Amino acid sequence: MKAGNATLSGYGTTIFEAMSALAREHTAVNLGQGFPDDRGRLDLRRAAADYVIDGHNQYPPMMGLAALRQAVAAHNRRFYGLDVDWQTEVLVTSGATEALLDGFLGLLEAGDEVVLFEPVYDTYVPVIRPRDELAAAFSPRTKLVVLNSPMNPAGKVFSRDELAFLAELIARHDAFAICDEVYEHLVFGDARHIPLMTLPGMRDRTLRIGSAGKTFSITGWKVGYITAQPHMLRPITKAHQFVTFTTPPNLQHAVAVGLGLDDAYFQGLGPALARSRDRLLAGLAALGVPVLTCDGTYFVVLDVSRWLRPDEDDIAFCRRLVIDAGLVLIPMSAFYETAPPRHLVRACFCKDDATIDAALQRLAAWAARQPA
Ligand code: PMP
Ligand code: GLN
Repeated sequence: MKAGNATLSGYGTTIFEAMSALAREHTAVNLGQGFPDDRGRLDLRRAAADYVIDGHNQYPPMMGLAALRQAVAAHNRRFYGLDVDWQTEVLVTSGATEALLDGFLGLLEAGDEVVLFEPVYDTYVPVIRPRDELAAAFSPRTKLVVLNSPMNPAGKVFSRDELAFLAELIARHDAFAICDEVYEHLVFGDARHIPLMTLPGMRDRTLRIGSAGKTFSITGWKVGYITAQPHMLRPITKAHQFVTFTTPPNLQHAVAVGLGLDDAYFQGLGPALARSRDRLLAGLAALGVPVLTCDGTYFVVLDVSRWLRPDEDDIAFCRRLVIDAGLVLIPMSAFYETAPPRHLVRACFCKDDATIDAALQRLAAWAARQPA
């Protein structure tokens, strides 16, 4: 019999799905896959439910409900001063995942080159090195750069200076950027999220992606939104029409309500999440676990070198931790194509205090049983 697509058949199940399945099997505390314990705001869940009963449950417009596209444009103006035409520059997708796929399908052709970032450990390497490496990654065939800031899994928020360096490379090589900004409101302390789109010369080269899943703590809804000028958005819309065509209208309606919430809601997201991060970090510090800087997202990266057995990698370590400690973390090597680090794991902290405390208790009890 003929086989299915060879490239896709070559991939295993995603690490998030695999580790969440392992968590269920071992009734482990799950700090793996990035989803909040929070059930999401009642007013938005109510808006979605009411729309199912009272609203129009047939195909919505392919670009998305007008109310949501208008809300996305208004959100762009309110937080970033971007002037966006909701009719020609906004597309609603089924999650940021679909937005990314539509972006690739809509912009790329065989032979085009794409620049992707792997987590940058700026704490570990001199600042100039990543810049040299980044410049060297561009070639005349580079068509697209994919930037995720705030960055999963590194917890890094790119600074204006770093973005300016990238913008110059993009302009010089006549490239586009797909900016995955799903964690745009989840930044901590003095860190500020700056969309690459707001830098000089980037408005017509950049595609900005947001997700209701992160902004409203409802990861299962899968409502994403793209902002881009028409010359970029048109081919991407063609991809969308063949991938999903539309996204459930009740969820779009509720997300439009959400994007209209007052500033206090959006400004409260970072500080609330920072408290959970700090609770986890305090417990890890008490156990002597080194962590990387984390200025945004749901995630922090832990250095578990001291617990690795000879020849044990991060994947084997995470499996052992599920079985022996009842705690799920994500091996960082999952985020690399080549030369992955083997001593780092990712922990998710968008959780209730009780979940974080239970995770820390399990880790502490397990650590006490490890050879010195
Ligand atoms: N981009 C990043 C960086 C993510 O972490 C995730 C999922 N958490 C997504 C995209 C996918 O978002 P969505 O659930 O809206 O498809
Ligand atoms: N992006 C989420 C994470 O990093 C997982 C999403 C998924 O499971 N596909 O944990």
